Amino acid sequence: METTSVKTNEPLHVFWSQDYVLESDVETRRKSGPLAALLKSGEIANIELVEPAPITRTELLAIHESQYIDELTTKDENLARSIFASTGGVRDAVDAMFEFGKSGSLSSGLHHARPDGEYGLCYLNGLALAALRAIQIHQIGNIGVLDLDAHCGGGTFTMLGENPNVTLADVSCNSFDSWLPNSNRHYLEVISDGREYLGAVKRSLAHLKNVDALIYNAGMDPFEDDGMGGMKGITREVLAERERLVAQWCEDHQKPAMFVLAGGYCGSKLDIDGLARMHLMTIKEFARIQINSPRND
Ligand SMILES: [Zn+2]
Repeated sequence: METTSVKTNEPLHVFWSQDYVLESDVETRRKSGPLAALLKSGEIANIELVEPAPITRTELLAIHESQYIDELTTKDENLARSIFASTGGVRDAVDAMFEFGKSGSLSSGLHHARPDGEYGLCYLNGLALAALRAIQIHQIGNIGVLDLDAHCGGGTFTMLGENPNVTLADVSCNSFDSWLPNSNRHYLEVISDGREYLGAVKRSLAHLKNVDALIYNAGMDPFEDDGMGGMKGITREVLAERERLVAQWCEDHQKPAMFVLAGGYCGSKLDIDGLARMHLMTIKEFARIQINSPRND
């Protein structure tokens, strides 16, 4: 049966709870607090901030070894609360993406995590969990993972690289945690000049043309004033254009899409509120676009 395509103005569902925030920790587990405050103040129209349920041990067994999960649970109660809450938000964002067409979670610290341990500030690989959920629960035949963090997503490759239902695209400006593409489903570009960045982003989107839905790791650490990953020439304006390009691509091709925050660190010229405003650019673009809800097909 043909259905008339009606443009609905769905609010953008953004998952977050106070439990994500671990004040004593690095920006990875701190910055969602000021970012949520900006969203609550109405900085961007048509946002629905939703509290997720924490991820469960059983759900984590899809991506992590049981011994590692048990160690995390017993070693540091506060860290466990934060990462279980923010990984629950990634899971709920997957379901919301397929219900509403687009979604996001203010989660960070994902793409370096390995099945048996933490790596590069990442404990639980929510990107791998999200991709597997899209395939197993939502019957997606080709799920895309776009990783635009400054660093490479070697943990995600370890977990998903062999999966024939996953297309990986990774553009980085730092070779930390780099990986070797070994299939035409894989795209990795590590740039060495900020002027190459937006061109590389466009090539990574072209690589994703056949995916059925997109999981976007929207790192802000390529920013030239970032304290950890930044590259000269990747300005605020370049990253605003990057977010416009990615979101517009999702709208133009009507790909259900979700984002997570990924990297982004304070530096001598970037405080935590400035950092939150960098991540706000992703949310602004996702709020703007209209993707028809797959449930209306
Ligand atoms: Zn990074």
